Amino acid sequence: MVRYVYDFTVGGRDMADLLGGKGANLAEMTRMGLPVPPGFTVTTQACRAFLTTGTEPDGLAHEISEHLTTLEEAAGRRLGQPDDPLLLSVRSGARFSMPGMMETILDIGLNDDSVFGLAKASGNERFAWDSYRRLVQMFGSTVMGVDSAVFEQAMTQLKDLRGAPDDLHLDAGDLAQLVETYKNLIKYETGEDFPQLPAEQLRRAVLAVFESWNGERARLYRRREHIPDDLGTAVNVQTMVFGNLGPDSGSGVAFTRDPATGARGVYGDYLSNAQGEDVVAGIRNTVPLDELGRLNPEAFAQLRDHMGMLETHYRDLCDIEFTIERGRLWMLQTRVGKRTAEAAFAIAAELVDEGLITADEGLARVTGDGLARLMFPRFDTSAVGDPLAHGIPASPGAAVGAAVFDSAEAVRRAAAGEKVVLVRQETTPDDLPGMIAAQAVLTSRGGKTSHAAVVARGMGKVCVCGAEEITVDPQGRRFTVGATTVEEGTVISVDGSEGAIYPGAAPLVDSAVMRYFETGERSAGLVDAVARAMQQADGVRRLGVRANADTPEDAARARRFGAEGIGLCRTEHMFLGDRRQLVEAMILARTNVERERALEGLLPLQRKDFIGILEAMDGLPVTIRLLDPPLHEFLPDRTELAVRLAAAEAHGNPPSAHDAELLDAVNRMHEENPMLGLRGVRLGLVAPGLVAMQVRAIAEAVVERKRAGGDPRAEIMVPLIDTVEELRLVREEVEQVLAEVSKASGVPVECPVGTMIELPRAALTAGRIAQEAQFFSFGTNDLTQTTWGFSRDDVEAAFFSAYLDKGIFKVSPFETIDREGVGRLVEIAVAEGRAARPGLKIGVCGEHGGDPESVHFFHGAGLDYVSCSPFRVPVARLEAGRAAL
Ligand code: PEP
Ligand code: MG
Repeated sequence: MVRYVYDFTVGGRDMADLLGGKGANLAEMTRMGLPVPPGFTVTTQACRAFLTTGTEPDGLAHEISEHLTTLEEAAGRRLGQPDDPLLLSVRSGARFSMPGMMETILDIGLNDDSVFGLAKASGNERFAWDSYRRLVQMFGSTVMGVDSAVFEQAMTQLKDLRGAPDDLHLDAGDLAQLVETYKNLIKYETGEDFPQLPAEQLRRAVLAVFESWNGERARLYRRREHIPDDLGTAVNVQTMVFGNLGPDSGSGVAFTRDPATGARGVYGDYLSNAQGEDVVAGIRNTVPLDELGRLNPEAFAQLRDHMGMLETHYRDLCDIEFTIERGRLWMLQTRVGKRTAEAAFAIAAELVDEGLITADEGLARVTGDGLARLMFPRFDTSAVGDPLAHGIPASPGAAVGAAVFDSAEAVRRAAAGEKVVLVRQETTPDDLPGMIAAQAVLTSRGGKTSHAAVVARGMGKVCVCGAEEITVDPQGRRFTVGATTVEEGTVISVDGSEGAIYPGAAPLVDSAVMRYFETGERSAGLVDAVARAMQQADGVRRLGVRANADTPEDAARARRFGAEGIGLCRTEHMFLGDRRQLVEAMILARTNVERERALEGLLPLQRKDFIGILEAMDGLPVTIRLLDPPLHEFLPDRTELAVRLAAAEAHGNPPSAHDAELLDAVNRMHEENPMLGLRGVRLGLVAPGLVAMQVRAIAEAVVERKRAGGDPRAEIMVPLIDTVEELRLVREEVEQVLAEVSKASGVPVECPVGTMIELPRAALTAGRIAQEAQFFSFGTNDLTQTTWGFSRDDVEAAFFSAYLDKGIFKVSPFETIDREGVGRLVEIAVAEGRAARPGLKIGVCGEHGGDPESVHFFHGAGLDYVSCSPFRVPVARLEAGRAAL
């Protein structure tokens, strides 16, 4: 029989799929003997069953009631017992943390009778009514679907009536009256009474949490974080403990290290006389955790002790939620904590030093995406002047954008291409679309553990929170700092690393990590941690990493970043700029002599380009690809030419013969589908002299570099092969030219000749192609385009967002390799290519070569190297190392 409910004493951290992250860790802490309020977890499997069938799975109600009885027996009180009620919290807890995205209902078990019991047992009548008020409000909105604004309005009206500045000034009688109003509102809005039976409250709360898995907020968050939609959430039912019973009570959030920088030492926020929700919502400003040491030294010492235990046990940064009820400490949650990229590198290095984890484990704890983030520029603080205001540096990085004051405006402006900063007093899960759309988030309230901070860190988005100096006026769509007013649309700069806000667009400088890659300058702290991770990755990786570069400058940079050669040198840029005239002459040539003259003009220019690149990559392989794009790309635009000719005619001038000829050529060469037309090897085969000129330039560059004492290692790559015949013909021509240059110069020139595999037919006939190819390089941009039939230049803007919304794919196949389709072609080509030519060298030079997930795929597929843009080289090195773990 399926079991849907697990007591905290039964589960463990390895059961997160079934119990969700929170449930698994509550069980783990219970097993470790830490003070966890007793409770049980309803599994994700129960949730999935409920969401598929729309009804409560058989046996669930019975299991819940059995576990409830066990809880009641241990507590010596019943749920909602009129004279001394046991109260429960009901919280979501999915496999992957989704902060604030799903529902929580507290104080289950209170009703018109037990509220008096709670008042008596706690000796605090106001507290009892406030708890009941919270339950009716949360239950009414979450379970019964009443708009929460209705309750807030009722509260505001009562406060106005009493002249109370905040809800702390409402007394027990006021709150009792509010409960009546809330209950009436529920009846009025739903036609139903607020349920008085504690067991019914519990049952409906559990189902409401299940349902919240499919709430809009949760779905949006999952899409953003690539969390699968079919996991479902577990539900944790736990005995309530109260942090709002007076000054000797409180709630807090703590980290075993600083999640922003990774610095050692306990760290967190504490709010006295408050419930956990108040801390996370950032509604009141918290005090630093150290303050708890002054307020309650004993509980603080105990907390530090538990945190030490947790970090040693989990061998990682843990974050913790705790409550102190009348001096007694309770642990409400722990998990391996989210952290910034900076903290991830710093913590990994420290844990290795502390002997808690191995160097390989340290490498597994950092990511290429994180590294890429650290390579972003920061503000040039020497040039920015004084900050407008300061806040808490909650999520690092530098961002510039126009201030906007609500989520909808952020989304609207971002969709129109504007960069925006979302400015709020505090954020709620409803602000999520705006946070996604914004470059940065700025709040005037809340600490490092507020919603804004947690969510922004998770997204890698810049965030400054708790900037108390600013007053946000969402209605007036402005904020003020002292005498300065910043209206909506005004550009501001947000420094999430320093917690500063600057007026205008602040100038940016490179990051220290980037400087390290550029210069090799190694400093203590973050740079050292990054360097160590890179060293470890380079030590374990099997994949080589090359760069896509086509200028000596890019080649040199790539080499500094650790590239072990060039995997793709595109030669098309060598046909642009002031060389266009020569290219035009080549295209328009009417005789062989004219064409040869034009090609002879291009030859020395290309040779010079190749010499520079071979020099920058001396001793390392440089794969030079023969010309790929259709020739008409190098001619002027058709409309532009036609307008020029028409204008000349209108002015009574004779039309330029050259322009007329050009227009004629453009018309002749026009293709409806140029990406599927006369390009790549096809061009080389039909445009006489082109291949020979390019190969001669390469060969002569090799000769020159050799004569200069260099070690040039050029490889010649043929693009867009469909069939082995094409390659055979081009290869004959290439080899003839290489032989001619060798003979003429007396310097032997040997360049391997290989091909790109970027069309499905080539992948499927790779065994035959390998007979002519000395190496393969997958062009996954074109291979994705042609396998899916997606125009790479159009579809992403045209309809990918709809496809992503519908879940047809989770990420663009142009960004991360589609393992199932394109990946399968890669695997076939690797297997058949190597079967035909053992030891065949195979790489990839499409954009996917720098994408972390794709790098893992290429490692698994047995490629020899990946090639990516110079800036992605460190990312690819790191991920290639991680893939090998
Ligand atoms: C490719 O198609 O993946 C490739 C690297 O070539 P290009 O992007 O130049 O078409
Ligand atoms: Mg291509």
